[in-house]
Amino acid sequence: MMETHPTLALPQQGIWLGGELVSAGGAPRRLVDPASGAVLAEIADADVADVDHAVTAAVGARAAWARTTPADRALVLLRLADRIEADIDNLAMLEAANTGKPLAAAAAEIPFAVDNLRFFAGAARTPTTQAAGEYVAGYTSMLRREPVGVVAAIAPWNYPLMMAIWKIGPALAAGNPVVLKPAELTPLTALRLAELAADVVPPGVFSVVTGDGATIGSHLVAHPEVAMITLTGEVTTGQAIATAAANRLARTHLELGGKAPMIVFADADVEAVALLAAMCGFGNTGQDCTAACRVLVAPQIHDAVVEATTAAAEGVVVGAPFDDGAEIGPLISSEHRERVAGFVDRAVAAGARATIGGGSPDRDGWYFEPTVLVGADHDAEIVQREVFGPVVTVHPVDEGDLVEMAQAVPYSLAASVWTGDVGRAMRVARDLHVGTVWINDHFPLISEMPHGGFGLSGHGKDLSAASVDAYSDLKHVVVNLDR
Ligand code: NAD
Repeated sequence: MMETHPTLALPQQGIWLGGELVSAGGAPRRLVDPASGAVLAEIADADVADVDHAVTAAVGARAAWARTTPADRALVLLRLADRIEADIDNLAMLEAANTGKPLAAAAAEIPFAVDNLRFFAGAARTPTTQAAGEYVAGYTSMLRREPVGVVAAIAPWNYPLMMAIWKIGPALAAGNPVVLKPAELTPLTALRLAELAADVVPPGVFSVVTGDGATIGSHLVAHPEVAMITLTGEVTTGQAIATAAANRLARTHLELGGKAPMIVFADADVEAVALLAAMCGFGNTGQDCTAACRVLVAPQIHDAVVEATTAAAEGVVVGAPFDDGAEIGPLISSEHRERVAGFVDRAVAAGARATIGGGSPDRDGWYFEPTVLVGADHDAEIVQREVFGPVVTVHPVDEGDLVEMAQAVPYSLAASVWTGDVGRAMRVARDLHVGTVWINDHFPLISEMPHGGFGLSGHGKDLSAASVDAYSDLKHVVVNLDR
């Protein structure tokens, strides 16, 4: 690897196949610093032979890992969590430099990922199944949870380490070997994770293959020995993976895009709404599947919410990852910035108005200004499609129409409801067809609770015991008591 950032301790050159460091077979890939556009590092991608090698190692390790006791699997996960915790400064530096997010934000994500892993360690020891019993006279029925087999885990670039942990943790806890493919733009923390795991996770059980989706990802997904594919990524990627999995009916677990609304009734706390719209609409530069990107507000307080959200946006400190006080950084790549700018330009051309932001600041790197748009139609592409940038649209909506408008997009991932009326909040939570509903807040994620969407936002859950269940199959064993 070629190092250009003076303080960055890059992972060792190569990729980790089943716990061994080998030279990657693919071509070199330049990683670009999103905050400057300069080359950050050069790493070699895996080639398809490396992918095959990783899957073969996983197949070789599959039976022994499946037979490891839950206590021993939990110990492996706890040791890995300890390693990550001890390496937090280094991992945060790598994540910040590679994604462009502020160092403090990168560092704040890692304790949560460590807690996730420790939760999965506990969950490995407490499988969720019905009790054995005589459900038919003369027969005892019992359930076994069996690992599904080799898991291909495909991660995105917005939270590279945390999304990888959300896949690896439950898959390993359930007794499966894992081959992880990080996003091509952000492989550094995955490579470091493999280094940290090398003498903690048994040989063959965990591999990391770097490279793009079209060649390396699709080869991994199509491998006949891969029993399950777990993706966090875009809807179109989920569709491509589900199609590739269909022939052999490989299991899929898909965490896809979102277009999360804030549903704001007239009795809501305007300042709290504005604060959370700014925090969760612009946090991670809006590159978040649950970003609070659509604020639907009762007309009585619409103007007040616009004014307060605009003021909150003005207070967001945009800066480079290693700038003191930076709250959000640049977008991930120049292509992505062009995409975000295109959405905003077309929205403005169609009649929307930016109360703040709307363009790229005059500086190096892939920055985009925190932007609040008013006047966009509900069926405009800026409202219907995932922008994945620091752009929040605010709309006046009559209270009686709020739930319907909240769901008038193709995604069903998450929503927040803002009201002082508990009964109304609970009715809305009941009626919304989304995977997570927050009441008078937006964004809290909890290791013990599931995260994942419905419909085009995907299926299967990350986090919680439900995610460990998702990486196992149930087997019914029946004993005849009279023979
Ligand atoms: P992406 O779909 O472009 O890429 C995700 C991963 O899939 C990458 O590793 C990529 O290389 C790989 N990939 C692409 N095509 C592939 C193929 N044909 N076969 C196998 N692998 C392939 O997504 P992204 O741009 O990295 O991430 C942003 C997306 O992720 C957004 O849509 C966001 O909403 C979503 N996301 C969802 C959640 C959630 O929990 N629902 C969380 C974070 C991000």
